[in-house]
Amino acid sequence: MRMKGKNVIVTGGASGIGLASVERCLQEGASVVIADLEGSDGQARAAELDDRYDGRCLFKACDVTDTAQVDRLFEETVAELGSVEAVFNNAGIGGITPSDEVTDEDFLRIIDINLNGVFRVARAALKVMYRQGGGSIVNCASILGVFGQSQTAAYTAAKGGVVNMTRTLGIEAATKGVRVNAIGPGYIDTPLLEALDDDMIEGLISLHPMGRLGRAEEVANAFLFLASDEASFVTGTTLMVDGGFTAGK
Ligand code: NDP
Repeated sequence: MRMKGKNVIVTGGASGIGLASVERCLQEGASVVIADLEGSDGQARAAELDDRYDGRCLFKACDVTDTAQVDRLFEETVAELGSVEAVFNNAGIGGITPSDEVTDEDFLRIIDINLNGVFRVARAALKVMYRQGGGSIVNCASILGVFGQSQTAAYTAAKGGVVNMTRTLGIEAATKGVRVNAIGPGYIDTPLLEALDDDMIEGLISLHPMGRLGRAEEVANAFLFLASDEASFVTGTTLMVDGGFTAGK
């Protein structure tokens, strides 16, 4: 029960890594807000999980590209649950296109969700956590925040930005009781990979020394560690959860 009495917000919590993290937090005694797009499975997932666990599980519609929606998410959560001890800044989208063909619209959309969205959520979280005098923010980066990969200019730029922004936020918040870290997942078997064909998946698997994709629960476990008091002296860093990908091959 590492998260007993804590309230957690997970953006992009209706699917994949986010949903697995929501459930792990509930298993450890937290109350959790699934923050995801209107029309996602979030509402149904939250109702189902709320029935199954002692902690509360709520759904709040929130598009991380909209500052007003992000700020409202935090205001409503504090009004209903009283505080926010941990945030998983996890919402994100993929995008694979040759760089000479990427449109402004597609490039800016990936940056707006995967980088600007992370900042909007972190800023709102810092305000609440500074008032409370503590909290933990975990940003979702990627192996592609520290490695390049062909045809992913916007995604790698955004994730690289998340890795370095996490250092800055970690330093800035360090004396205010708030820790800010990131997770760098390798390729994880979630709906995000549905756009890739079997040959591409095989190629990606071969880049992981462990010879397989990761599972969403394995990333959720890393989130749980960074969110919990067990990581009380950990800030400004990125924890890779990548089956050895960034260690080399
Ligand atoms: P999923 O697509 O399964 O989940 C992402 C969730 O974010 C979805 O519910 C999605 O909604 C939601 N979302 C998308 N746009 C927004 C938005 N503007 N505002 C709020 N929510 C939004 O992907 P994963 O679980 O795989 O990805 C989670 C995170 O992990 C992402 O940041 C991703 O970049 C990162 N990651 C994933 C890896 C992988 O291999 N799977 C590897 C490394 C990092 P909808 O489905 O409706 O679009």
